[in-house]
This record gives sequence, structure tokens and C-alpha cells, in this order.
Amino acid sequence: MSLSRRSLLTASALALAGSRVSWSATGAAGSPAATGAGATSAAATGGAGPIILCWNENPYGPSPAARAVLSQAIPVACRYPDDEVDALVQLLSQKEGLSADHIVTGTGSGELLRALGLMCGRDSGELITADPTYLELPDYASRVGATVKTVAVDKALRHDLNAMHAAVTDRTRAIYICNPNNPTGTVVGASAIASFVNALPDHVTTIVDEAYMDFAGGQDVRTVASLTSGSKRVVVLRTFSKIHGMAGVRCGYAIARPDVAKQLADMRMTSPNVFAVRAARASLGDHAFLSDTRRRIVSSRTRITTELAQLRMPYAEPQGNFVFFDTGKPLAQFTEFMHKRNILVGRRFPPFENWCRITIGTEPEVDAFLQGLRAFAGAHSSAA
Ligand code: PLP
Repeated sequence: MSLSRRSLLTASALALAGSRVSWSATGAAGSPAATGAGATSAAATGGAGPIILCWNENPYGPSPAARAVLSQAIPVACRYPDDEVDALVQLLSQKEGLSADHIVTGTGSGELLRALGLMCGRDSGELITADPTYLELPDYASRVGATVKTVAVDKALRHDLNAMHAAVTDRTRAIYICNPNNPTGTVVGASAIASFVNALPDHVTTIVDEAYMDFAGGQDVRTVASLTSGSKRVVVLRTFSKIHGMAGVRCGYAIARPDVAKQLADMRMTSPNVFAVRAARASLGDHAFLSDTRRRIVSSRTRITTELAQLRMPYAEPQGNFVFFDTGKPLAQFTEFMHKRNILVGRRFPPFENWCRITIGTEPEVDAFLQGLRAFAGAHSSAA
């Protein structure tokens, strides 16, 4: 991430402070800028804070089952959680249908992306990514000396697997495929990824980030975790920050061939804490929460794309909990317009200077966003 979430929030809060937004009395006092606290969404604070639609969080979480164990875990916080981590690994290995030595837990999948950046980037390694894509891995890899080659997404804003394959050299150590891609939201099919992996030299590691896969669907759209039991070096990443709604708890995991999993595990800095581990286990079993969250997000996503189509605003086919669309104006104008309505939207993703990434919040938050969107389009068309 080139701009940290905290600094973006502070910048947004400053923009809001300088705008004509009328904060509610509690909102002014309780705003992140005023308290120095982390993000507090309007949904979480009963309307006090800004509506945060910029970080691809899931406002419905954590699940009821995870909430219960989080509050009950306090007495065991004085103990090291090694056995608890082992129990999570066992549960994940059952869920994935793979032996436990395929699973590596992390303090969020972000930690594992960085560990992969270190693993593949040190000693001048070469990494290939799409552009635009999620930057945590390539940014970290660059900082440890990697060369990062970027390949533009295709016309539909999907990974261009042919062009990525053509960019491979004998110096290439890894290829990062974010599927669905952040920020574009588009997917590539599992069969296309399998063919891509099979055509790569054996030394190249394919990293498939499936942070948003739980929101995706359609023909051939599925996890490629089964590739980790083949002969190629494939790492699949998952997180509890998205459909599980536990971004603040920090837990994620990787699935990989056991020898690759061991290399990755050796690069980690930390291990998840007892709250994260227990909440993750509980959330995996809360099927009612997971399916309800998916239904709500997908239904709100359809509302947003329907509105965008009516307003004739182009968008990339969204498969995550966010939508990437063309505002028709330089993004700063849209961002400022939304800030004045107390709504924080995504940052710039060059070269898509007019495009905005909007996270799908709760239904009332989506209502507020759509009202803002219609007002922006109205002001835009009457000004034209
Ligand atoms: N991968 C992608 C594609 C993301 O968008 C994000 C966060 O937004 C992450 C990974 C990091 O997630 P985590 O909270 O598990 O570190």
C-alpha cells in the first residue's frame, strides 16, 4: 500500500474538517482526527463518523460466533498460543482437503505477502505483477531490492496472462496474480491460471491472492488451491479480513506445496495472537454469517452496477466487495464531492485518473453513496 490507511484517514479527516460537512456533535468530538483513534465507520458508531468506503473492509463482521470467543479469550491472553495456532492449522487443512504442512498462518495475509516479497525479492529477484494491482507484495519486494516488472491489465481490466507470461525471463522468481484483482475487481478463470502455471519454468513461484474470492462467482471462477498439490511452485493466499469481517484482528493464511510452505514460514516475523486464532476458528464455522454477508454484499454490488449503468458510468466487472468505476471527471473532484457528503472513497489508481474504487458498505451506507453518485452525475451533466 503506497499510502497508509492511517495517513489516508487523517488526510480525509482534514479534508472533511475544511469542508462544509456538518459533523454531529458526537462526530466532531469522536472523529478520528480529534481522537487519534483508528477508523470508526458511521455504521460502527451509530452515524457519528464518516462513512468509510475506501479500504475494502466488511462492516458486517466479525461474525456473532467470532465476537463471542473474542470476549471470552481474555483470561487465556497470558499464555503463548502455539497449541491454538496448531488447532487453527488443523481446521484449515480439513477445510482445504490438504495436509497440515501445506498451511502457513500469518498476522493477516499482508504479513505473508511481505514474507513472499522477501523470499522472492532479496538478492535482486525479479517479480511480475499486473498494473494496477494490490501493492503490498511488490512494494515490499522493491524495498528489499527486487526488480518489479508490471504488465498492464487488458481492456476489460483483467490480468493479461499472455502478456505476463511473455514477460517471464530466467531471472523471474515470482508472479503475483490478485484474483479478484484489487482495485479493478475483475477475475481470471481457474483453468486459465492452471494453464498459465503449467507453462511456467519450475523455478517460478505463482502467488495467487484470493483475498476476495468468497465474493466471486461465475463460470470457472474458483480457488486454485488444488494447484498446490501439483509439482509447480504455487502459493494461494487467504485472509480473515474480508468475508469474515475481521480486518482489525489480523489473521490470514497461505496454502502451498510443503517445501514452499516451509520456505515461506521461515520468512515470517510473527505468529497470530490468541484472539485472532480463536476468532478465525469460530468464524469458519459461522456459515449463517458467511452466507448472509455474501448475499448482502453481492446484492448491494448489483444495486451499484445497475445505478452506474443507468448513469452511463463505465465500470469493471466487480467480483469483490468493491466496485471500480469511471467517474467521468478527475478523481479529486469526485472525492471532494463525496467528502462533503461525509463519505470517504478510494484513492487514485494511476493510470486510471478518473476512476474510483468504492467499497461496499452496509445497505444504508450504499444508499448514501448512491444518492451522492446521482447528485454528482446530475451536477456533472448539468455543468456539461
Ligand atoms: N490482499 C489483497 C488483495 C488486499 O486487498 C488486502 C487488503 O486490503 C490484503 C491482501 C491484506 O489483507 P490482510 O488484512 O489479511 O493483511
